[in-house]
Amino acid sequence: TDLARIRNFSIVAHIDHGKSTLADRLIQATGTVADRDMKEQILDSMDIERERGITIKANTVRLDYTARDGQAYVLNLIDTPGHVDFAYEVSRSMRAVEGSLLVVDASQGVEAQTLANVYQALDAGHEIVPVLNKIDLPAAEPDRVKAQIEDVIGLDASDAVLISAKSGLGIPDVLEAIVTRLPPPKGDREAPLKAMLVDSWYDAYLGVVVMIRVMDGVIRKGDRIRMMQTGAVYAVDRLAVLRPQMVDWPELGPGEIGVLTASIKQVRDTRVGDTITHERRPADAPLPGFKPAQPVVFCGLFPVDAADFEDLRDAIEKLALNDASFTFEMETSAALGFGFRCGFLGLLHLEVVRDRLEREYGLDLITTAPSVVYRLHMKDGTVRDLHNPADMPDPTHIDHIEEPRIKATIMVPDEYLGDVLKLCQDRRGIQLNLTYAGSRAMVEYDLPLNEVVFDFYDRLKSVTKGYASFDYHITGYREDRLVKMQILVNGEPVDALSMMVHRDRAETRGRAMVEKLKELIPRHMFQIPIQAAIGGKVIARETLSALRKDVTAKCYGGDATRKRKLLEKQKAGKKRMRQFGKVDIPQEAFISALKMD
Ligand code: GDP
Ligand code: MG
Repeated sequence: TDLARIRNFSIVAHIDHGKSTLADRLIQATGTVADRDMKEQILDSMDIERERGITIKANTVRLDYTARDGQAYVLNLIDTPGHVDFAYEVSRSMRAVEGSLLVVDASQGVEAQTLANVYQALDAGHEIVPVLNKIDLPAAEPDRVKAQIEDVIGLDASDAVLISAKSGLGIPDVLEAIVTRLPPPKGDREAPLKAMLVDSWYDAYLGVVVMIRVMDGVIRKGDRIRMMQTGAVYAVDRLAVLRPQMVDWPELGPGEIGVLTASIKQVRDTRVGDTITHERRPADAPLPGFKPAQPVVFCGLFPVDAADFEDLRDAIEKLALNDASFTFEMETSAALGFGFRCGFLGLLHLEVVRDRLEREYGLDLITTAPSVVYRLHMKDGTVRDLHNPADMPDPTHIDHIEEPRIKATIMVPDEYLGDVLKLCQDRRGIQLNLTYAGSRAMVEYDLPLNEVVFDFYDRLKSVTKGYASFDYHITGYREDRLVKMQILVNGEPVDALSMMVHRDRAETRGRAMVEKLKELIPRHMFQIPIQAAIGGKVIARETLSALRKDVTAKCYGGDATRKRKLLEKQKAGKKRMRQFGKVDIPQEAFISALKMD
């Protein structure tokens, strides 16, 4: 295709502002999918994405559009992942296109993710067309939101396209704006092949499918290609474009976006951001900006029933085929037995994986305290990464400990600002900036990542009644006074509940945890001390008193059926518990105990 007739773009928006609905309308308006095959949110293919209304994998569709100038254009829409955990994937998708539609809900205005995403688009050098959505709503205030886009983002919004993605109003203007206001791609057809690996996924029938954006050169079916970062060589079995399902295509030239299969066994063998070139006539340098996926949050996953370990292993291995960004290795815990230590890009990623293991594979899992990666500077001068508080070496050998910090951007209506500042302060935050856009405040905080991984987002939502929006990125490591806190139940350390905490907050946190555990652990026939300790020193303690009577004592011996039923009921209740020494701890305790109020 002639470069001048191609437009590549993404849609950037805060969650729920209408990105998927707009994509649906563009697909329909260009006749890409027959009306009878159309379903809502057609690009969001994974069930969990659909249910949670979030897009995790980048999805792409090639649209044919005849513009008002009478020319036929090819429009490639990349629907980027909408969550901070996937910031690197977003940055690669952004590099694959030249422009963005900035969708803002005209009844809500600019939000934290609007900003984070639009800055990424600007970083990638995009031309940006502001689109005000939901103008059908009585609460829509297009003029106010235009002014806000100009004030807060610094973009000219006078030519913003006003639409209702729901009703279809204004969609033809969006298509025309894409053609007239976004630039065509550049590239050299004669140069050696240079294509960016934008995304990859596992398909049960096709194996690994790789999405590419060609920068220079031409790729064809049968070509022998090399991944420049991994060095692996493959032959292209199949080349296709997405409409949005695969349609075979003879060749892809500069500016084009499509997918290939090449008998690649695992998604792990493909790296987002890698450069694909020809084996015979390679490009001299890969595309800049490649970064290997780096898990930032780690936790242990253990089966509730130890007999399910092999099933868990199977399930994790299958999932890993389709998700190159999560890591796992076997872990043994004194208390929990065999399980896996897994690494994730962020908390949402952790939840998605755990959800899938439980729902798609029918497993009951215990998730241990999520932990960030600490950097231990040892007295002998070596530096170690600590992924699991259970592996913490003798503190007397440690010179100092560093933890990852983030820069968080929070947007919130005025009236909740005080609560948000308090929350950030409580989480050891350092305020960097506070500005206003109309009646909304925008605050930036430097926060320790470990204070955010547990329940920061839940707390933020609850103190602001859902009106705050939040975005963050990791900025680096900094030294602080960090210690390992252990929890002892009936005198035995429960390693799954040990965690790293700031020394000044250890007492508060320890007390909160033992109080929670006292509520969550059922009473036993004996008294159970629950303690939090640093090293050998107990810093908080609760005692769970003993059950006074045998539960079956009331059944007199005579009523055997009733007695059996009662025992069965107890057994069923036990299923989701694990034994620690002589004490049964229910599964919920592991998660609930970690949440702070
Ligand atoms: P996304 O999270 O940005 O992909 O947002 P969705 O496309 O999933 O839309 C979020 C919600 O807003 C859905 O319930 C849509 O039906 C609704 N929505 C999207 N566009 C419009 C619109 O133009 N008008 C109204 N009233 N609702 C809309
Ligand atoms: Mg969506």
